[in-house]
Amino acid sequence: MATKQPHTLKPEDKIFPNLDGSGDWTIKGYQKRGGYKGLEKILKMKPAEIIDQLKASALRGRGGAGFPTGMKWSFMPPAGDKPNYLVVNADESEPGTCKDRDILLYDPHTLVEGIIVGCHTLGAKASYVYVRGEYVDEADHLQQAIDEAYKAGFLGKNIMGTKVDVDIHVHMGAGAYICGEETALLESLEGKKGQPRMRPPFPAGFGLYGCPTTINNVETVAQVPPILKKGVEWWTQFGRPNNHGTKIFSVSGAVNKPINIEAPMSISLKDLIEKHAGGVIGGWDNLLGVIPGGSSTPLLSAEQCENVLMDFDALREEGTGLGTAAVIVMNKDTDILRVMSRISRFYKHESCGQCTPCREGVGWVWRLMDRLSQGDGTKEELDQLFDVTKKIEGHTICAFADGAMWPVQGVLRHYRPLFEQRIKEHAAKKDIKVKSA
Ligand code: SF4
Repeated sequence: MATKQPHTLKPEDKIFPNLDGSGDWTIKGYQKRGGYKGLEKILKMKPAEIIDQLKASALRGRGGAGFPTGMKWSFMPPAGDKPNYLVVNADESEPGTCKDRDILLYDPHTLVEGIIVGCHTLGAKASYVYVRGEYVDEADHLQQAIDEAYKAGFLGKNIMGTKVDVDIHVHMGAGAYICGEETALLESLEGKKGQPRMRPPFPAGFGLYGCPTTINNVETVAQVPPILKKGVEWWTQFGRPNNHGTKIFSVSGAVNKPINIEAPMSISLKDLIEKHAGGVIGGWDNLLGVIPGGSSTPLLSAEQCENVLMDFDALREEGTGLGTAAVIVMNKDTDILRVMSRISRFYKHESCGQCTPCREGVGWVWRLMDRLSQGDGTKEELDQLFDVTKKIEGHTICAFADGAMWPVQGVLRHYRPLFEQRIKEHAAKKDIKVKSA
């Protein structure tokens, strides 16, 4: 079993000290908290040096996949005839996830500073931030932060005399979940239908408008300047090897105090819920199960929740994933089968429809989940359902269909007896009705 890790951060170790919105989110507040200090020094560093630092920090992408950021950035070719781009994915749509929303609202300059450093490292002079369509206030704050940064000389041409040029453009999406998939996002930015592209080619070679492009999540980009300013040693004191740093966890559902909290990576799930989110409603013993990383990650049973750590590797070992670190807690008052059926419906609605297994299969799975969650079915259909999810997984253009199947597999793995009990009760009710007719 993995060793228990600390559950709190000192205020000075927080990358997003204003995440709760209690302070000033404008440039004045950000600079008071140390923002933009040391930026000039970073812009004088060679891109290769920055990438080496990021590799040493083992920073992994915070948008869901957990890919090493230093390695991803090293895939970008030096700027040539075509421009390089940094695209920021702020299309936060995974149910349960609301961390980027608070960064954009309450600490938008952390992202702006991250973009400046990112563009310098990647040889890009322009960055596009793709913001979820519903995030109107968030996009408004981001735009105001960008305007302030231009005025203060942190954006535009020859930033602080370093010969680095950076422009940032904010682009609003239209509220489609699939545009959070990086290649669908690029299609949408180009003004086309937001549908994922076949890979290869990968975006680092052929991305936005056919130019080399790196796409990163809001939180990931914002974490880069503090790592460079405070050093790899500071960063790696948090979390376990290969899972270092601080992380924003969004805890919602059956807890007394739903919260977005920045905590050390590898915090235990129990500490996260009990010490930061006010505990499970009805007490820890009333816990039924937890979705640990947004709705597409498989459920953890109450038993697993006892000791599991919140990081990429620990959750993978438990058959699930850290995803976006959006923790959805369900207690014994929750109809977990109906919840999972509702999640299936969400995915059915959001499929872009390009591949047959996803377009047809996700709807089929939802319809069967809907029926079985009400007890209207047979035990054989439970096996059939699992079998179909396995046939859809891994057979599509993008990972959307996998993400739609994993929650179903998770509920079948841990809560099959609940399905069987419901089938039995439903059959008994039908029998009574037939007899009394
Ligand atoms: Fe579209 Fe689904 Fe295929 Fe992804 S897996 S490309 S969402 S149809």
